[in-house]
Amino acid sequence: MAADGDLGKTSVMNRRSSAAFDVVVIGGGIIGSAVAYQIARRSDMKVMVVDKADGPATGSTGASVAISRCRYTVPEVVRLAYCSQLAYRSWGDFTGLDDPISDYTQFGALWVFDRTQSELKAEYERLRTNGVSAEILGRAEVLKRWPELDLCVEPIDFGDLEQHRCRQGSSFLFENEAGIADPAGANVDLVAAARTQGVEVMFGTGVVDVLAKRDRVIGVRLDNGDEIHSDLVVNAAGPWCNRINEMAGAQKRWTLTPTRIQLILREWSASDSRLPITFDGSTDGCYRIERGGSQILLVSPEIPEFMEPTSDPDHFEVNPDRNCVETTLAAFQHRAPGVKHAGTTTGLCGLYTINEQDSHPIVGPSEVEGLWLANGFSGHGFKLAPGIGAMVARSITGNTAPFDPDTNDDLFALDRAPLATSGGVFA
Ligand SMILES: Cc1cc2nc3c(=O)[nH]c(=O)nc-3n(C[C@H](O)[C@H](O)[C@H](O)COP(=O)(O)OP(=O)(O)OC[C@H]3O[C@@H](n4cnc5c(N)ncnc54)[C@H](O)[C@@H]3O)c2cc1C
Repeated sequence: MAADGDLGKTSVMNRRSSAAFDVVVIGGGIIGSAVAYQIARRSDMKVMVVDKADGPATGSTGASVAISRCRYTVPEVVRLAYCSQLAYRSWGDFTGLDDPISDYTQFGALWVFDRTQSELKAEYERLRTNGVSAEILGRAEVLKRWPELDLCVEPIDFGDLEQHRCRQGSSFLFENEAGIADPAGANVDLVAAARTQGVEVMFGTGVVDVLAKRDRVIGVRLDNGDEIHSDLVVNAAGPWCNRINEMAGAQKRWTLTPTRIQLILREWSASDSRLPITFDGSTDGCYRIERGGSQILLVSPEIPEFMEPTSDPDHFEVNPDRNCVETTLAAFQHRAPGVKHAGTTTGLCGLYTINEQDSHPIVGPSEVEGLWLANGFSGHGFKLAPGIGAMVARSITGNTAPFDPDTNDDLFALDRAPLATSGGVFA
């Protein structure tokens, strides 16, 4: 962090009276653009977004599977996911755009998990009491709706596949209104919506330092040498967040690991029926139909071999590993033996920023005055983004707005204890 004496060409003036911006947001991905839009739509604060990439959705957001579902272990996170889902489902109303790019396709989400009846009932009640439409479906009902599926709930040990013996589950949780949005389109829309509200958004310019005066953050230095002074800086730099926090000397409490996640896209016959989004408890992978309906998108099983930590988010292998492709196809075959494959298989990789302690994000003020964090979203940042933006904006401005979540704004505070999860990145 550059201290007072290092400030260089622009002099720093008093807070609130002369900083060029009230808030500078570092990163214009789905989180940063949601934060900026949410602040601007509820206040007259001057907000700037700075992003080193040439345009929106080049980071984690561009690779996102963009599933919106609400089953979480913590009730407040259920409500946060639900209010965000309502925003995605009413995207024109939420963004104020007449003709947004993103829309919402409702597939429903089936959780094929090994749960006792009482555990399943508790999951169902948690959804229902927090406003989410859900059902418990018996095995016969699931197979009537989606006869292509197999309902094995026995975890698969990929190191010893020969030993796997299927054990069929009897009841399953189904989220009726789960679906998908368009990740890149939603990011572009939020940038447009933010601009409409007066936010200045600058792509193609990276932040290379966080400026401070008397231990308080007062702005950022850009890679072109310019300085932007602001009362607050929000770190929404996705997998690059640790670099920004290191610049500011902030956030040493949580381990946030950029992690390569592998996606497989398999063509399938257009005549196949419409599968639900399927969360596969045998592998902790998940599957969904790609938007056009001509492909099925498979998130690889959640095993360490396929989730590679990376220290450099600018350089990672974007093609999936052959072994991962084969294993993921086998896992899908196990879950949906009735789906006939057709055509080619492709894939891509993107980065989760996994919070190693509890898979939940860190959102709110950091221990360095003036620096706010919206980091470590693991596999949840897309579905939570509208609500996360609202939480940050509500805290900063004190104002509420339509689609705000019914949650405490310190839910994901830096100094919180780890939150409950159901294990793994599903949280
Ligand atoms: C394969 C995959 C599947 C996923 N599936 C889902 C899903 O189904 N549902 C869900 O909810 N979530 C999902 N996620 C997670 C979700 O996509 C992420 O949590 C979310 O996109 C994170 O958004 P972000 O804005 O924090 O990060 P990013 O989109 O990475 O944006 C960060 C931005 O910061 C910019 N930046 C970085 N450093 C600097 C700097 N120094 N100066 C200026 N700008 C900088 C970058 O250029 C980038 O544009 C998935 C993620 C992946 C990778």
